Amino acid sequence: MEKNKKILLATSNKGKLKEFNDIFNNYELISQSELNIEDAIEDGLTFFENALIKARHGSRNSGLFSIADDSGLVVPALNFEPGIYSARYAKDGASDLDNRNKIIAELKNLNLESTSAYYVCVLVGVHSPEDPMPIFSLGKIHGRISVLSSGEGGFGYDKIFYPNELDVSMASLEASLKNKISHRAIAAQLFLKELDKDRS
Ligand code: IMP
Repeated sequence: MEKNKKILLATSNKGKLKEFNDIFNNYELISQSELNIEDAIEDGLTFFENALIKARHGSRNSGLFSIADDSGLVVPALNFEPGIYSARYAKDGASDLDNRNKIIAELKNLNLESTSAYYVCVLVGVHSPEDPMPIFSLGKIHGRISVLSSGEGGFGYDKIFYPNELDVSMASLEASLKNKISHRAIAAQLFLKELDKDRS
């Protein structure tokens, strides 16, 4: 694949788009909302299935090489919730604040101030909806989810997620640092290596 080739990013999540634009800086990313493509119905049971569903949907509707990520927060002490339901944990159409408040309420129910958690990102790329060999990559970052909110950056659960080995929340990190260490950054670096192999 040539540098600067157009890639459809099958998401309308502005937080993800901004982060991917920083990471895929050698490619021209077009979001599916720019092409007025509706969101796919995410009815898989795993991050892997949902990422593939979204990438295929993007490719079918744009004719472009399409990538999608399915990502979320996993909290083992909460039965591995919110998992694939991270975007709609509190309710359908929930805001980031609704979702954070729901986690905080669940932690308080268990008398926990914080507990271990991780973010996961599965990234999938397809050349066409029928592509028999999608590119897959996976990134994770471990830390703690807390009832205490801090920081102004990031999105989603970042204000209450504290990566291991850092004293501050993900939302307190400079965007450039988050985009080096995050689950999305790890998955994207591995993904770019695979893309490069396809080109050579
Ligand atoms: P998806 O769009 O179905 O993949 O859902 C992703 C959801 O997971 C987001 O709406 C957030 O709630 C959460 N999430 C994923 N990545 C991050 C992150 O980097 N920071 C905070 N929350 C995230």
